Amino acid sequence: MESVETASEPRRTVLVVEDEKNIRDLVCLHLGVEGFTCVPAASGTEALQLVERQQFDLIVLDLMLPGVDGLAVCRAVRRGGANRDVPILMLTARRDESDKVLGLDSGADDYLTKPFGIRELLARVRALVRRRTLDAAAGNSSAGKPITYGQIEMDPARRRVRVRGHAVELTGHEFSLLYTLLSQPGIVFTREALVRKTWREDTFVTVRSVDTLVKRLRRKVEADPANPEVILTVWGSGYKAADV
Ligand code: CA
Repeated sequence: MESVETASEPRRTVLVVEDEKNIRDLVCLHLGVEGFTCVPAASGTEALQLVERQQFDLIVLDLMLPGVDGLAVCRAVRRGGANRDVPILMLTARRDESDKVLGLDSGADDYLTKPFGIRELLARVRALVRRRTLDAAAGNSSAGKPITYGQIEMDPARRRVRVRGHAVELTGHEFSLLYTLLSQPGIVFTREALVRKTWREDTFVTVRSVDTLVKRLRRKVEADPANPEVILTVWGSGYKAADV
């Protein structure tokens, strides 16, 4: 059987938490066509039970659920366990709800406002899964590969940074945040995601710490910190490194 080798890429498993059966079925159908294995859950309680038993590659999570709502599920997942770092795509009924979700320390990585197009959903899912794969790759090699971004060079193994030819001192957290952004230019990271990546061990850090860290980093790496060209603010979402 020659296909064994190519078939060895694992199917990714998505937990789909949605109390409206039509939407749940539709999401599962299309993710299935895309090659994902879907595990449906109709309530927050059911979702929490599944999360304790199984590791997922992504969670699609409706905000408004009867009983335990999406926010509570999100926070419970982030508190610990095998799915602590799983990407979470939140589904919300209204735009202002979505903004609230990201503003609260919910732990969601991205959101979609209903009604959403299936193409949009699939694009977000692919982006989140791809980001996770890149993270895993970076975590597996002991320190990550050296990168060059514009005039900034970063060498994680030696914790060295050079900006326009000059060595720059960064703290561990500054280094980690900058490396996350610069190794994936153009990708928007929410503050939540950056908190988890940067302060892995410390759960008492708030999203404001990200803003503070970005401000410090801009002073160290931007030609003009008041008009940043490297670390860009994405209003209402988070931060990204400018496309190079
Ligand atoms: Ca709902």
